[in-house]
Amino acid sequence: MKLRDHLDNIKTQLVNDIEVSFIDGVRKIPRPNSVNPINIKKNQVLDSLDRLIPSNIDNYQNDFVQNLHSIRSYLSFCSSPKAFRTAWDLRSLELNGQDAETILNQGGQFIPFNKDSRIFKYEQQGVLYDESKRFLKAIRHVEGNYDDKLDDLGKFTYQPPENISGMLRYRIAEKISQVSSIPYVLLVIMWFKYRINNNLNHVFTIAPAKITSIRQSNNIDKHIHKHLDLQLINRSEASSILNLFLSLNETSLEIDVRRELPDSLSREWSYDKVNSSNKGKQLKRWSKNTGKKCPGECNREFIDISNSDIAFGHIVSQNWCKSFTYLLDKVNHPDNLYLTCKKCNSSLGDKFPDVTLRNKIISYGTIGDWLRKNLTSIRKS
Ligand SMILES: [Zn+2]
Repeated sequence: MKLRDHLDNIKTQLVNDIEVSFIDGVRKIPRPNSVNPINIKKNQVLDSLDRLIPSNIDNYQNDFVQNLHSIRSYLSFCSSPKAFRTAWDLRSLELNGQDAETILNQGGQFIPFNKDSRIFKYEQQGVLYDESKRFLKAIRHVEGNYDDKLDDLGKFTYQPPENISGMLRYRIAEKISQVSSIPYVLLVIMWFKYRINNNLNHVFTIAPAKITSIRQSNNIDKHIHKHLDLQLINRSEASSILNLFLSLNETSLEIDVRRELPDSLSREWSYDKVNSSNKGKQLKRWSKNTGKKCPGECNREFIDISNSDIAFGHIVSQNWCKSFTYLLDKVNHPDNLYLTCKKCNSSLGDKFPDVTLRNKIISYGTIGDWLRKNLTSIRKS
């Protein structure tokens, strides 16, 4: 599905949920050392949602894409999760030379105050929105958040705002992650007092984080006032997530954008594993049980082919990858593999699948696609 369709679905899903289940009443917003009760009415929530998601989805999509580009342009200034955690754990607004040295050695970066960027400017406001004010762009970590722990995996919570549109922006970001299966990424900012000269007294350190509290967007009545769960990620993960969103925005592509397969799965089901272990047999049994066919010219059902005549084909061939070595770490990835009969596989040789074969592989699924959708039943086969 295209980005536009996802964004279109968000409003429908949220409005339906609110209309059916939201009950007027007091919500207790957690604050440092206390709670702040706020009375919230269903019609306020719907009005606020209407302002945040305009009926013109094209404009909404443009604003979203602008925000992605803006976040991406800050990635070059981001620190590693490890360095950011060290900075967080200083629990002090003052930065001395020794702390700075440690953080820099761990892959941290400090950026001096810059009044032309809201990211590198000292402001009180905790949550930063994009220019359209519709989307989350960054959050400022300040010690004294009602829960300001950052665990070893880089996970932390961010406190909820006290106004309805602020709360809804949290839930909208979660909803975007949910409908697109791509996590929402934002920037986390910390600032320190650090004297460079009379005008430059502050430095900033930033890192990307992804939102993990995705399911909260399913029940607005229960979750409207909840915090965000976040996890720090490294630059390359942030960049690949942002690129996934941007490729969903490519109107010329009719190909589904696949969410990245978790590393552990791609290792577990890589070519060498499926080719030589019980995992391959599981996949073959599963393909037979579910009526899958060879995408090659024969188009026979696997149930009619003996296991020894079924093979794992490479979309980009092994020899091609050996010739262009930058592909070598991807050649055996489950997304480069599909199930085929031996005959069709060897007739393909080192050539790339033609349009017909490619379309069949896409519609029948790569091994990666099967793992995304049917992992449990494959494991049981
Ligand atoms: Zn075949």
